Amino acid sequence: GDGAVREARTRPRISKQDIMDKYNSERGATKEQLHMVVIGHVDAGKSTLMGRLLLELGQVSKKTMHKYEQESKKLGKQSFVYAWILDETGEERSRGITMDVGQSKFETKSKQVTLLDAPGHKDFIPNMITGATQADVALLVVDATRGEFETGFESGGQTREHALLVRSLGVSQLGVVVNKLDTVGWSQDRFQEITSKLSAFLRQAGFKESDVTYVPCSGLTGENMVVKPTAADLTSWYTGPCLIDVIDGFKTPERPITKPFRMSVNDIFKGMGAGFCVSGRVETGMVQPGDKVLVSPLGETAFIKVLMVDDMPIQTAFAGDCVSATISGMDQQNISVGNILCEPQRPIPITSRFQARIVIFQLRVPITKGYAVVLHHQSLVEQAVICKLVGQLHKSTGAIIKQKPRCLIGNSIALVELEVSRPICLELYSDIKELGRVMLRVGGVTIAAGLVTKVY
Ligand code: GDP
Repeated sequence: GDGAVREARTRPRISKQDIMDKYNSERGATKEQLHMVVIGHVDAGKSTLMGRLLLELGQVSKKTMHKYEQESKKLGKQSFVYAWILDETGEERSRGITMDVGQSKFETKSKQVTLLDAPGHKDFIPNMITGATQADVALLVVDATRGEFETGFESGGQTREHALLVRSLGVSQLGVVVNKLDTVGWSQDRFQEITSKLSAFLRQAGFKESDVTYVPCSGLTGENMVVKPTAADLTSWYTGPCLIDVIDGFKTPERPITKPFRMSVNDIFKGMGAGFCVSGRVETGMVQPGDKVLVSPLGETAFIKVLMVDDMPIQTAFAGDCVSATISGMDQQNISVGNILCEPQRPIPITSRFQARIVIFQLRVPITKGYAVVLHHQSLVEQAVICKLVGQLHKSTGAIIKQKPRCLIGNSIALVELEVSRPICLELYSDIKELGRVMLRVGGVTIAAGLVTKVY
């Protein structure tokens, strides 16, 4: 038979300290990963800001830049150049749930940052939700221009909505970019007026003051983005960090390497030798070649033969790594995208009924009991039904304001029970964030995103 199967073993449990030592010796030198979503009112300058940032950090080739400059000159819209950079990188789509989330990467001193979503797109909000469900931190961009900040901040403006939304989805650290400050002559008074209004609101929305940083910027002029400011009107009163330092200063989520092993299957393909390959992200724990794994909710066991990251074999895959694994000991026909590989002794919970705290976006028809949705969990897509409306929640405090509502309307937050057409793997958000987030879609439109609060 198969050598790998004979050699395969159930790895004896390694102590937490040993796992951490192993991680430090194998990965100590690599940068921490951070997933960031950019939010804010339309026209706040999000695309310009991020496009400019990628440009300043050398992520855009001269050739591409030249092409955009020519095109934008023709249109007489030179300022569009930066926004186009984002649209371009936004074309590199990844699979499954992140399908409509464009991703671009850049590095700071200590971090590798993945920018989620392509804010330049006009159907921005559904994309933003997708991005927000995967974000560790958020950048909130506000337009400092007189009248414009106020428009975005009023009820109905997206500044409040987006901030509440990301907070509801578990994001606790926020960088606030007070953008376009060039339009008000870098006025310190204006900066203070905006930050004081926002900080009162953000505190109420559940952000800790110590987790919010304000930074004056201009995406258009590039002021205070990657180097200390030079504009005298700004340097006369501002001595704080520039944007890249604010991003560098975010706390990265801990890699849950000592938790039980779980890896989502995002793709399955034929390998080079015997067996087949699956690719996906190790969400928690660690795995090594030779390990026996349980394929859930299927219930079959298999063996890990080889692990690769970026086409290079590795000794150990840790939480946070995107890997491809050669698998043996099971039939390729039986495994499917959305399955979770896990540790046989400490398997992932399997359920077809659970409770979630959901943020509801726009709806054509209010949600009532029996409302059918398509549930997205990692790369898994399943039919589901909202079978119980437990309560409607207060938007900023999260307290129940109405028990057992008859219906739920758009732009609200609620606690609901969902029933899936067949059992799926799920974790509580409080246990494992990445496996405790779900999205609900109807007809290809995201109508809600949520956190798993109870598994039955
Ligand atoms: P988005 O909708 O938030 O992505 O905003 P855009 O990046 O598309 O910018 C909206 C408009 O604001 C465009 O016309 C930009 O040229 C302009 N703009 C963006 N950033 C700045 C800035 O820092 N200063 C000034 N004066 N204008 C800006």
